[in-house]
Amino acid sequence: MNIRKNVNLAKYSNYKIGGSASYFLEPKTVSELKQAIRFARGSKLPIFILGGGTNLLISDDGFKGIVIRPVLDFFKIVKRNFVEVGAGASVKNFLKFTVQKEMSGMEWAGGLPGSVGGAIRGNAGCFGGETKDSVVSVKSVRVKDGKIIERNNKQCAFGYRDSIFKQRDGEEIIASAIFKLKPGIAKDIKKSIEDKINYRWSRHPMEHPSIGSTFKNIPLASLTKKQQALYREVVKNDPFPVVPVAYIISKADVMGKKSGGAMVSPKHPNFIVNMGRAKAKDVEVLIGLVKKSVWDKFKIRIEEEIIRI
Ligand SMILES: Cc1cc2nc3c(=O)[nH]c(=O)nc-3n(C[C@H](O)[C@H](O)[C@H](O)COP(=O)(O)OP(=O)(O)OC[C@H]3O[C@@H](n4cnc5c(N)ncnc54)[C@H](O)[C@@H]3O)c2cc1C
Repeated sequence: MNIRKNVNLAKYSNYKIGGSASYFLEPKTVSELKQAIRFARGSKLPIFILGGGTNLLISDDGFKGIVIRPVLDFFKIVKRNFVEVGAGASVKNFLKFTVQKEMSGMEWAGGLPGSVGGAIRGNAGCFGGETKDSVVSVKSVRVKDGKIIERNNKQCAFGYRDSIFKQRDGEEIIASAIFKLKPGIAKDIKKSIEDKINYRWSRHPMEHPSIGSTFKNIPLASLTKKQQALYREVVKNDPFPVVPVAYIISKADVMGKKSGGAMVSPKHPNFIVNMGRAKAKDVEVLIGLVKKSVWDKFKIRIEEEIIRI
């Protein structure tokens, strides 16, 4: 496996933002993944596991350490309705596979960017579906000793945008997972996926690079009684009652605000988009501006959903 030095990470980030990694490894098999882990342990440098880079704000200074990007990219039907998928496969290709093989159950993920490994780690979800709903088991490699661990769904401790892999960030690298789907009809599966993609294009600023939702929805329970009464009309279940953060930001006079090459999207206020040459520092300025505006206007502290490296 090639060990590359000083690799620019912007290319691997959906945002097209970020400096270089000191070392960059792309293992294609579990045995290469183990090799990569051995190299990383030997170097004593920090490790970062990169998936599709769709949830990451990568610093302009890059990452002084080792980036491991598992490109284990395979689909294997293990038995009827059960498919093993490599963590490096894109969700997009997984969905294509489900259409080809007429396997239904993942349609909710239409338009969800990123890798299968990233989706498992964050239990990605939308349109009422969550990754955990179809996962039977997950195979990972432990960084401290290269041991392969297999967990069933329950042992993965999935929660809202959460899993054991997120709780133990950096300790294990997801290698593959077995999904249980059900028989479907290709054209119906395809249509259902396309509906989700079309919905995203109509609501989200898909025409510009982004890393999705910048801030988390606001749990209703975290607000004062007075605030709860104020926003009762817009509360949705996600899967617990929340005030959509996009709604609050849309009332904070920040939509369309720019810093350098970054902009708070006028189409969807929870997206900060890269208009072309944005730097991480431009995005940071806008994150600060949105937080401050929401606080000044509504006395609500909003939390970030994105990951920084
Ligand atoms: C336009 C847009 C729309 C989005 N819509 C949604 C949505 O509807 N629902 C939703 O949940 N998310 C959404 N997201 C966020 C993002 O796509 C998901 O969180 C996605 O699952 C992240 O996967 P990734 O492979 O890109 O992970 P990355 O961004 O590369 O990494 C995210 C985290 O996962 C870890 N990771 C990645 N791969 C592995 C692995 N193999 N083993 C262990 N850890 C790993 C990384 O270390 C990092 O901590 C959206 C993003 C964009 C840009």
